[in-house]
Amino acid sequence: MSSVQELFKVTFWGVRGSIPCPGAETVRYGGNTPCVEMQVGGKRLIFDGGTGLRVLGQSLMSQLPVECHVFFTHSHWDHIQGFPFFTPAFVPGNRFNIYGAVAPNGATIKQRHHDQMLHPNFPVPLQVMQADLKFYNIEPGKTLHLDSVAIDSAKLNHPGEAVGYRVSWRGRSVAYVTDTEHFPDRLDPNVVGLAQDADVLIIDAAYTDEEYHSPKTSKVGWGHSTWQEAVKVAKAAKVKKLVIFHHDPLHNDEFLDHIGEQVAAQFPNSTLAQEGKSIVLLPEDDKPTQNDSETVPVSA
Ligand SMILES: [Zn+2]
Ligand SMILES: [Zn+2]
Repeated sequence: MSSVQELFKVTFWGVRGSIPCPGAETVRYGGNTPCVEMQVGGKRLIFDGGTGLRVLGQSLMSQLPVECHVFFTHSHWDHIQGFPFFTPAFVPGNRFNIYGAVAPNGATIKQRHHDQMLHPNFPVPLQVMQADLKFYNIEPGKTLHLDSVAIDSAKLNHPGEAVGYRVSWRGRSVAYVTDTEHFPDRLDPNVVGLAQDADVLIIDAAYTDEEYHSPKTSKVGWGHSTWQEAVKVAKAAKVKKLVIFHHDPLHNDEFLDHIGEQVAAQFPNSTLAQEGKSIVLLPEDDKPTQNDSETVPVSA
């Protein structure tokens, strides 16, 4: 058994886009909004703080003190609403390094977290969080290094802008690309760049092509892509495993099963992100075969 230091483990705590949608119809894939944890090179990285972050926080409470690096794609509600309920942030002795790009209106990631916790919308201000919180403004396109872990980033096509990330470590790489809308006539070079030859591509595919182009309820300009476009990116970028993410709240488990079958018919090494599931990668230099990716349940 490899130690935690030698693994690259990706765990899905929230996979739903736009708004939480708990209930019997969504119980298998999950109703929490985006939060993906990556344990890599002895570091704990968290991508987005949707309502899935609350659940991750509860799991971290048995492992205190913790230090995490939390990366935000942007600050639409579905990506930040878990943060005020992230219990470890209220506990002294924990440390959270929080990263995000400055929004087009000039607001930093710190300002946006501060604002969402103000009266009368929320009763507990950011200052009440007793953990050591450090905020960093990132510049998309510049690589960030955390010891042996490299984090690349790029701007995505989304209302108000979003940032996609790619995490690389010892020959392995996982791209986290949400929320992003494809272009009508070409693949987004920023998306393909983040995804290029990645072991795992986690990508926004909220809609089907049919829904996206529906004459009555068109989703054009809403900032999200389709599973058909996700498959195009995965093929063009030669990714090894495709993970469909940011599921539309209107898509129940049965509908998502159906999407999963259609995606797999075009890209066999694919899956739909599912709350509570993990993907484990071993470092490339540790194992010569390619058959080292697996999906395993986690206790949460
Ligand atoms: Zn979103
Ligand atoms: Zn968004």
